[in-house]
Amino acid sequence: MKLDSKIPEGAIGEKWNKHKFNLKLVNPANKRKYTIIVVGTGLAGASAAASLGELGYNVIAFCFQDSARRAHSIAAQGGINAAKNYRNDGDSVYRLFYDTVKGGDYRAREANVHRLAEVSVNIIDQCVAQGVPFAREYGGLLDNRSFGGAQVSRTFYAKGQTGQQLLLGAYSALNRQIKAGTVKMYTRTEMLDIVTVDGAAKGIVTRNLVTGAIETHAGHAVLLCTGGYGNVFYLSTNAMGSNVTAAWRAHKKGAFFANPCYTQIHPTCIPVTGDHQSKLTLMSESLRNDGRVWVPKTRELAAKLRKGEIKVSDIKEEDRDYYLERKYPSFGNLVPRDVASRNAKQVCDDQRGVGKSGLAVFLDFSDAIKRLGKSAVEARYGNLFDMYYQITDENPYEQPMRIYPAVHYTMGGLWVDYNLMTTIPGLYALGEANFSDHGANRLGASALMQGLADGYFVIPYTVGDYLATIGPAPVDANHPAFAEAKKAVEERTQKFLSLRGTRTVDEYHRDLGNIMWEYCGMARTAEGLQKAKKMVAELREDFWKNVIVLGENEEVNQSLEKAGRVADFLELGELMIDDAYNRNESCGGHFREEYQTPEGEALRDDENYAYVAAWEYTGDNQPEVLHKEELVFENVKLTQRSYK
Ligand SMILES: Cc1cc2nc3c(=O)[nH]c(=O)nc-3n(C[C@H](O)[C@H](O)[C@H](O)COP(=O)(O)OP(=O)(O)OC[C@H]3O[C@@H](n4cnc5c(N)ncnc54)[C@H](O)[C@@H]3O)c2cc1C
Repeated sequence: MKLDSKIPEGAIGEKWNKHKFNLKLVNPANKRKYTIIVVGTGLAGASAAASLGELGYNVIAFCFQDSARRAHSIAAQGGINAAKNYRNDGDSVYRLFYDTVKGGDYRAREANVHRLAEVSVNIIDQCVAQGVPFAREYGGLLDNRSFGGAQVSRTFYAKGQTGQQLLLGAYSALNRQIKAGTVKMYTRTEMLDIVTVDGAAKGIVTRNLVTGAIETHAGHAVLLCTGGYGNVFYLSTNAMGSNVTAAWRAHKKGAFFANPCYTQIHPTCIPVTGDHQSKLTLMSESLRNDGRVWVPKTRELAAKLRKGEIKVSDIKEEDRDYYLERKYPSFGNLVPRDVASRNAKQVCDDQRGVGKSGLAVFLDFSDAIKRLGKSAVEARYGNLFDMYYQITDENPYEQPMRIYPAVHYTMGGLWVDYNLMTTIPGLYALGEANFSDHGANRLGASALMQGLADGYFVIPYTVGDYLATIGPAPVDANHPAFAEAKKAVEERTQKFLSLRGTRTVDEYHRDLGNIMWEYCGMARTAEGLQKAKKMVAELREDFWKNVIVLGENEEVNQSLEKAGRVADFLELGELMIDDAYNRNESCGGHFREEYQTPEGEALRDDENYAYVAAWEYTGDNQPEVLHKEELVFENVKLTQRSYK
């Protein structure tokens, strides 16, 4: 199969406008004859469902939480980017486009990124109109702050709760449509497969997480807005429920999976403290606006600090290494996440890390508090400081925070064309579930922007084109494909319930996470990846023999839910390793130790790897087939990324 990205012709700044004009429209009177299935109602899904409902389509939406309001999007802290240039500091659509392509280490599609930058400005207007309480300056204009990888202030925020406020906006819009009868919402319902008829997506199979009822739903198109798969690492900043199941089942039905190895490791998280943890906590990147990152200059001082022989305050200014400011004078503490994370690892590998484990660096606000006053710092980051204090019992107003990188976001996802359609006709992927806009490294505050761009401003145009092409004839829910897909899900469910081994699903998940973190995490090598591949394959085999899944189907059964998700993670893990092994270069979050510059920066190989790796599933235990979408850069010149 040849991948067709469907990038429109023309100059970069005109592609989206022209494309919108060329897309077919659905007659308003016909819209209600089309059913659109939206799986996932985080920012991407809620915005899509609300917009499509408002347009008059018949939408059915699903999420596994008890309310759309509890999607993982609610955890987003720091902000959302938009090229409004309110600060008059030189921002523009083109600069946001450029920063994003560069930030992604030249592994994203130019056309998609430019469209994202264009619609970013509409998102803010839309959200303000919904009543999202963005922070404002004294004069009333919306305030901005800086995020990594940019030298302008373009991040709109609502304290450290931006995702929550944006989601409440999208959720309100969604509820309006539910009340109007255009959207029917199914909560506590998990999609376990898609139904294809003659190769096109025509429905889904779901399990009611309260009653266990397994059902099918038919529609003219299916939108997967099901989030990222960072929890393959077990420990991550993601919500505990985030998983890959929807995307993975679609993958097994024919949707290619793109760049699975591109994982974002966020530099500012609360360090791991022991085996008891099942989740890690992010300290928003916004903190790097005012916080300074440092470790002791010498191993000796660091060792004394770790042993408790001296206190942080005993370390003199001249004995502190503000390594990001030293190495990257232009961007300083605001280098992109991949660069900041790698540097944290380097200083800890050099035995200059702090905290008991030595796997932490300081994020210090003492200068900011001196400069701005405690109350100004509190106004900007108060809730984040409180959160840190509650978790660590250390007061960040009085001593520096300790932070370390942790898994945070996945740039990989289902391959989609410019219209956000996967390789299965009629099946779309939006938000973190797709691979589309961030290349090998996502810039901070760009995920919320992308999810809302996809949902509010892209899909309402592109799905109409597909629907107009297939026509409004009702989907035949009695087609045998529905019964077959349902039967397969029932059989799989029974298979899980028949497993009465000795090890819990969580134990397998933790083991998988350890392997992935060790060999396919912040640093990777060919040798390590080969070892990890074997280890994951063995773990997967063992899972199906020795896992225990208690309880019944006809009840709330978290053991059963988790078993399905971990089984999918085990398969995905192997594909991530294959993808990382295939990519003989370093780029963004994918750091192969064999490929680095003399200064330890990621060394790309543009000649051989300037492509999107899109993997095709070919059957259980069969190697996946690699398809390459060559990336063409007509507007941004490929260079060694520098933040010096
Ligand atoms: C702690 C934290 C802070 C962050 N802060 C920021 C920030 O400041 N700025 C920024 O831009 N980004 C931030 N991000 C990233 C950003 O929050 C996410 O990328 C984004 O919210 C993902 O939105 P989404 O709609 O794609 O998916 P999600 O919000 O994850 O929603 C997924 C939806 O899919 C549903 N679902 C999943 N699988 C199934 C299934 N099988 N069946 C039925 N339903 C299913 C879920 O119920 C949910 O409704 C942060 C991430 C974390 C972890």
